[in-house]
Amino acid sequence: MSSQPTPSERPCRLEPLGTDADTLCRDLLRYLELGLGQDAGQASPLAVYTALGLTLRDRLAQNWKHTSELRRQQGGKRAFYLSLEFLLGRALGNTLLNLGLEEETREALHRQRRDLPELLDVEPDAGLGNGGLGRLAACFLDSCATLALPVTGYGIRYAYGMFRQEIHAGEQREEPDHWLKHGYPWELKRPERVRRVQFGGRSESYRDGQGREHRRWVDTRDVLAVPYDIPIPGYRNGIVNTLRLWRAAATDIFDLGEFNAGAYPEAVAAKNEAEHISMVLYPNDSSENGKELRLRQQYFLASASLQDVLADWTAERGEDFRDFAERHSFQLNDTHPSVAVAELMRLLLDEHGLGWDEAWSITSRTMAYTNHTLLPEALEKWPVRLFGHLLPRVLEIIYEINARFLRQVAQRAPGDTALLQRLSLIEEGPEPMIRMAHLAVVGSFSVNGVAALHTQLLKEELFRDFYRLWPERFNNKTNGVTPRRWLLWANPELSQLISQRIGEGWREDLAQLSALAPAADDPQFRAHWAEVRRNNKARLAALVRAQTGVELIPEAIFDVQVKRIHEYKRQLLNALHVIHLYDRIKRGEASQITPRNVLFAGKAAPGYFMAKRIIKFINNVAAAINDDPDTEGLLRVCFLPDYRVSVMERICAATDLSEQISTAGKEASGTGNMKFMMNGALTIGTLDGANIEIREAVGPENFFLFGLRAEEVARLRPQYDPRQAVAADEDLERVMDLIQSGYFNPFEPGIFDPILHALLAPQDPWMVLADFSSYKHRQSDVAALWHDQTEWQRQSVLNTAASGRFSSDRSIAEYNRDIWNLQPLVASVPGLV
Ligand SMILES: *Cc1c(COP(=O)(O)O)cnc(C)c1O
Repeated sequence: MSSQPTPSERPCRLEPLGTDADTLCRDLLRYLELGLGQDAGQASPLAVYTALGLTLRDRLAQNWKHTSELRRQQGGKRAFYLSLEFLLGRALGNTLLNLGLEEETREALHRQRRDLPELLDVEPDAGLGNGGLGRLAACFLDSCATLALPVTGYGIRYAYGMFRQEIHAGEQREEPDHWLKHGYPWELKRPERVRRVQFGGRSESYRDGQGREHRRWVDTRDVLAVPYDIPIPGYRNGIVNTLRLWRAAATDIFDLGEFNAGAYPEAVAAKNEAEHISMVLYPNDSSENGKELRLRQQYFLASASLQDVLADWTAERGEDFRDFAERHSFQLNDTHPSVAVAELMRLLLDEHGLGWDEAWSITSRTMAYTNHTLLPEALEKWPVRLFGHLLPRVLEIIYEINARFLRQVAQRAPGDTALLQRLSLIEEGPEPMIRMAHLAVVGSFSVNGVAALHTQLLKEELFRDFYRLWPERFNNKTNGVTPRRWLLWANPELSQLISQRIGEGWREDLAQLSALAPAADDPQFRAHWAEVRRNNKARLAALVRAQTGVELIPEAIFDVQVKRIHEYKRQLLNALHVIHLYDRIKRGEASQITPRNVLFAGKAAPGYFMAKRIIKFINNVAAAINDDPDTEGLLRVCFLPDYRVSVMERICAATDLSEQISTAGKEASGTGNMKFMMNGALTIGTLDGANIEIREAVGPENFFLFGLRAEEVARLRPQYDPRQAVAADEDLERVMDLIQSGYFNPFEPGIFDPILHALLAPQDPWMVLADFSSYKHRQSDVAALWHDQTEWQRQSVLNTAASGRFSSDRSIAEYNRDIWNLQPLVASVPGLV
């Protein structure tokens, strides 16, 4: 007998996919012609992009599979990042960058007479987030994969992401963002891992075979959670982690009873109701208290994700949960997913039969909570009535957690009922509310803020009583951003210049940028630096021209404030300064004006009246200024519509001056500030959030500081008198008079009265006018420095050189060191892409 297997016995194996231009070219053609049924010669850029996405997804999937195998072999602890938002932006460029396949792909496309930039531009942003919090989650996933940490993201696959913003007659109009319209080539549906999430019904008790009493949740209306996995590649390390997004689906398309009774439309309506859960992202940067659908989304995410993790555990270990806490961490991105604390208790108690103490020990050793804001309107609360109606069994568990917690507090501080009231998970009142932040703190072993000042204020103010109880729980993790997307990808020319000087190690170890500092004194290097930045500015100017028709002044300062529109971020302060510059031009000081382009962008929550009026105000001011021939060559003001990740990639590489001017104590961290610094912008800012750490890193001499400090804001607010601030500054007085005169709204009488009232109200919580003089003076220092281009470019280089600690790699290394304690995966197979 022959030892050779017969053809029918020969194992069929998957060969590694090629990554040379030739193979990529052929796979691309195959997807285009056979997968999508297109004629390669006639196919639209969108079709070619889709085929390229599928071609690259295959390469990602190889590493993906390998990463899961590694994780199983090494069998260590895992962490899970739970977030209602992941603001991913575009995937194509990031995939090429992280896999190192950009050159081969350009070549493959070239052979088909296609151009990469055109394809990059047809990809819609995956806008599953509002702003900083969602983008942080995306940067964190990139860093976890790059550090080879076994971290999985869990979120919701909204059919509609952040709305598209259009500007009509100066006002924001919201258009739905149907980002999945043409399919999403990067995701993989996992129908075999569907979970069932319960809503409604009631809780009842029953006895098991041994006569023990248990609770169960019955008569529920269930919704299916269908997972879609998005690959998250690390930077050139062969690791691909997973972002698992849940889509809601009806359990059965037809309710048989209703169907048989002839109520066909009613039966189909039930399907719609279920699928509503993952229909749309709430477009509010702070919160949506009281919205039933929002609570459904939160519970849907928490329950599906925890069930998913527990299913993996029991598949391997059965019902033995002794090691579970040592092997799992759940990081809660703000209070949005914090119902996970009670849901993990429910699953362990009701579904897995654990006793309370064991379940609580597991829960409170696996949950970790990141707080993102001190703003009172953003502190989530749910009416007990609504909660009990939607999640009756979960409410029981919250009551029990609260009862046990308050007993513990009462033992420590006997008789202090005020303390009990302050700490309780339930806020009493005519409409009792559940305080989700309290649930998160009580149920977590770690509570962190996102910048040093923010964490300090959490300890001293928002969570003061909790901090006294459990000081060891509190820690700071200053935010960061991924340098791959925000420097390497967004600014390739500057990256090349940096690498020529200090090598390429900074890509994975951003602290190495400090080696760039001596180059700040090298005239030739500075000249190159300035030239790259000029090129970036020309590209941004072209984008602004195409989008708005505004012609920016190429050689002038690019002064940029892009972020969500919110009163605390004080776009109004910037606008007042713009009006002041205009006023100076009109008063004959044109010769003393340093030319500037002032660029604004950002979305307002659709229900936030004042934010929308601020957009209108900026647009009217811009129109008046740009239309006045006296401003020619001196001042251009522009509101760029539809701010999003892909637009920020262009903007941050082209910014000279980064505006970070929030009222001190209100911005938890900020991350836009970090993207700008990395790309060599100078910052004008208050001592708020991570600005403080940015200033420390770069040195106070390289940062334009102004305004009240957080403790001054708190101290002076009770006696704040905005009219006094106006009276004390003639320039401000003229600015206010100009607005009051209707100069910016001649055909729309009174529309800016709400803005004037807010600025002039002694109750103005943002104290805009209090900081005007200080801001104006620092802005004139900015203008003076611009005339000394040697010194400006020197400080620009120093900003990039000092930006190393604002890499999200550093943030994640700290989360891992202090909170998760995961072992990095060690690649066992060489030759991965
Ligand atoms: C970075 C980023 C933010 C956060 O900006 P902040 O200035 O920190 O508020 C918001 N939106 C997008 C699209 C971003 O890229």
